[in-house]
Amino acid sequence: MECNVPGNEASNRVVGWSRTSLVAGHPARTPANQAKEAAGNWKLVRKLVRTGGGNQAMNTPIRKGKVFLMGAGPGNPELLTVQAMQILKSAEVVLHDHLVAQEILDLIPAWTHVRNVGKRCGQAGISQDQIHALLIAAAREGKRVVRLKGGDPLLFGRVGEEMEALARAGVEFEVIPGVTSAMGAAAAAKIPLTDRRYASKVVFLSHHTAGNVSPEWHDVALKDATYAVYMPGKNYGEIATKLMEGGLDASTPCVIVANATQAEQQIHRTTLQELALEERLPAPSLLIIGEVAKPLPAAEKEKDDSGWETPAKTSELVLELGEARTEEESPYTRTARAGSS
Ligand code: SAH
Repeated sequence: MECNVPGNEASNRVVGWSRTSLVAGHPARTPANQAKEAAGNWKLVRKLVRTGGGNQAMNTPIRKGKVFLMGAGPGNPELLTVQAMQILKSAEVVLHDHLVAQEILDLIPAWTHVRNVGKRCGQAGISQDQIHALLIAAAREGKRVVRLKGGDPLLFGRVGEEMEALARAGVEFEVIPGVTSAMGAAAAAKIPLTDRRYASKVVFLSHHTAGNVSPEWHDVALKDATYAVYMPGKNYGEIATKLMEGGLDASTPCVIVANATQAEQQIHRTTLQELALEERLPAPSLLIIGEVAKPLPAAEKEKDDSGWETPAKTSELVLELGEARTEEESPYTRTARAGSS
């Protein structure tokens, strides 16, 4: 498998990265070869910027390129938006993060140049500046470029820096929203994030210190809030301590959701007090903390005359529904009947 960005042999290629992910099969990462790789990446970027990435002169693009800063959702490809799907199908270059699920990458046409520029997975050689340079070079070449991120691109994903770089370079770009992982996790665990009886706000937090803003959030503890904690790291206890110091009750319900919306999804329910003792679930995982995260009630049973529990009777309430818009039968009714025969 390829590890370095190859040259642009084909005349119509902007950047010669392969469709194959550059992650698997990466050679052992010693400090020496990481430095070599980083230097190699910069050499490539300089070349792209100098040459426009292909044999087309950078100053005379045939058509204007554009960058789509796109959210891929939390993993289940069915949660990709229709808009995202349509743009992906026509993208010429895709630069994606490590969090983007393989099933989503599989939807990208075979002729698209795809590159993993994720921070993990042995890609430490690709700096944020190099990502900017690659985006700009490909767009200046006139390509439709997708910068594909997990969840929603506007949350915890350095998109601010990318937008600034693109704006400074005069490159046209558009943001394509995605389903953020907190929403995927809440849906998976059936958590009503702003149930009016318990919460009037949702706070999206990161427990990871990246960049200049450190997560000082014990003063954020608000009783009528639900917390969605991204990047909870190894030590769930630290999070619990900060929130309890901020005044949250030790019995506050807490749900850990790992790999939300994906086949490997795991959901674990606990409380703030117990959080420190919980085993860490596999990454990516997210915590939802707040009264809204308490378990739903069990199904109610009715008792018949002899005291046996029976399922609740069908409601006698008759709902007045509007007229059906057509005479045609609903496909769901048809399927249900077919299934019952
Ligand atoms: N932009 C992304 C967040 C990127 S930060 C979004 O909107 O979701 C990366 C963090 O997101 C992970 O550390 C994890 O906390 C969370 N995350 C991403 N995908 C997830 C998933 N499928 N299940 C649980 N958490 C996920």
